[in-house]
Amino acid sequence: MLRTTILALAVAFVQASTPPPSTLGPPTRADFLRGQYGRYRANNDLLFYHLDIRVDPEKKSIAGQNTIRFRMLADDTRIQLDLAANLSIDRILMGATPLKYERDLGTVYVDFPSTLRNGREYTIDFHYSGQPEEQGRFGGMAFRKDPAGNHWITTACEDDGASVWWPNKDQWRDEVERMQISVSIPNNLVDVSNGRFMGKTDLGDGYTRWDWLVQYPINNYNVALNIGRYEHFSDTLGNLPLDFYVLPANMEKAKKQFAQTKPMLDAYRSYFGEYPFEKDGFKLIEVPYAGMEHQSAVAYGNGFVNGYLDRDWTGIGISLTFDFIIIHESGHEWFGNAVSAADVSDMWIHEGWTTYLESLYVEKLFGHDDAIRYVNSYKSKVQNREPIITQRGIHRQPQQDMYFKGTLFLNTLRSVVNNDTVWWELVRDFYQQFKYQNIMTEDVVRFFNARLKKDLTPIFDQYLRRAALPALQLAFNETGSMAYKWKADERAFAMPVRIGRPDNWTLIEPTTDWKVMPMRLSKDEVEVATDLYYITVEKQ
Ligand SMILES: [Zn+2]
Repeated sequence: MLRTTILALAVAFVQASTPPPSTLGPPTRADFLRGQYGRYRANNDLLFYHLDIRVDPEKKSIAGQNTIRFRMLADDTRIQLDLAANLSIDRILMGATPLKYERDLGTVYVDFPSTLRNGREYTIDFHYSGQPEEQGRFGGMAFRKDPAGNHWITTACEDDGASVWWPNKDQWRDEVERMQISVSIPNNLVDVSNGRFMGKTDLGDGYTRWDWLVQYPINNYNVALNIGRYEHFSDTLGNLPLDFYVLPANMEKAKKQFAQTKPMLDAYRSYFGEYPFEKDGFKLIEVPYAGMEHQSAVAYGNGFVNGYLDRDWTGIGISLTFDFIIIHESGHEWFGNAVSAADVSDMWIHEGWTTYLESLYVEKLFGHDDAIRYVNSYKSKVQNREPIITQRGIHRQPQQDMYFKGTLFLNTLRSVVNNDTVWWELVRDFYQQFKYQNIMTEDVVRFFNARLKKDLTPIFDQYLRRAALPALQLAFNETGSMAYKWKADERAFAMPVRIGRPDNWTLIEPTTDWKVMPMRLSKDEVEVATDLYYITVEKQ
């Protein structure tokens, strides 16, 4: 090896790479319409929805109304709601007064004959009908048949938006406080929706209305219909009602598989505190797609097997010890449903955290080493091609790095904190501070900075707002010393990291400027704790 000076090394390490071009295509006008929180959304605050609909399985149609109560936050004469362009607006009423409206793709601007006043509450009835279009990964609203040939109708519309099947203020920032869901369906079918079951009423015309009450704030996309020939069994965990709905043929398998519910809830409660929707209970409902975190009514389609659809999803064996859909989708009750992102660009708050919760479940059941192995098994799914956080104000889901890189980042943050007692308190308090709120990444960063009395902003920014991982550069020379620094897009990036021998790590605190330290180990002998910090290492 050539004798080199630190200065020469610095030159050798000059960053030559430029970020690759964005792989995200240009957004559509619909993405902007749905993604922006403009004047006619910001001028009001949702209080209550009563969605009251009739579903005709033969015609694959839906008709009814959403009664929307809101409080004005400014004087104005117009508000912005959403309904898919292929569904008809039958009328929009305030009391008996029909309101004018204007449609623009999926947006519906509702105009009032006189000014609505700041601070006052108003109620409108939005009547609509039509045939929802099946779309997206999980169907939007899908009219299917179960294997026995019975109607099986489900909704799952996180990406497409709830307005693919019902009218609402279809954005992420403003969650309605409470909601009633009334679903009228043919007598032989069952509807399971979110919240507490309030009862059913025979309407006398071959239809029965099922009433559900959601007693907590809820994201629009979490509102769900699950209509089928379900059978029901129940259990309790302390005071928490557990209810399970499956097709009759799967009853025995479900009773076995759903036993995982209790250890799962116990694990998450031990980290974060109580189950967030205690009054609404916890439900698992069989559906014909993989699964979805519908609040208090988790959709389950994992075939009553472990792993992800019986696959060893992470490739290290641990995945096959539990049912991925039960563990992941239920984790969203804490992150996604209780703590919610206020904009889809911050969706890592849902998916990064919930994927991290999987590893916490593993840690609770199998210990720390397996948890670390589990987290690191997700490295193979990371692309590092786009920042995790996408452009705000455009409605489109970030790419899958928000799951796996998000998780690896949180595991890294734990190592930065470097004190598990502090870490467990921190994640619990973070959850408790923001439950039932809609937050942005800035809120997360502010919380961690304040609690740790450190400015971790460059670390958050490098992992969430930049595509590339930070690289630890280690430069060895023959005088028994080693120079080290971070190569990162964030100039102020500074993160401690453990190097040396795994049985006796040395904690160093590199910045993006060179530092030098004595080093007895050779270039080949020096290891870096890359299971604890998600980084790359460049030795020279
Ligand atoms: Zn998820």
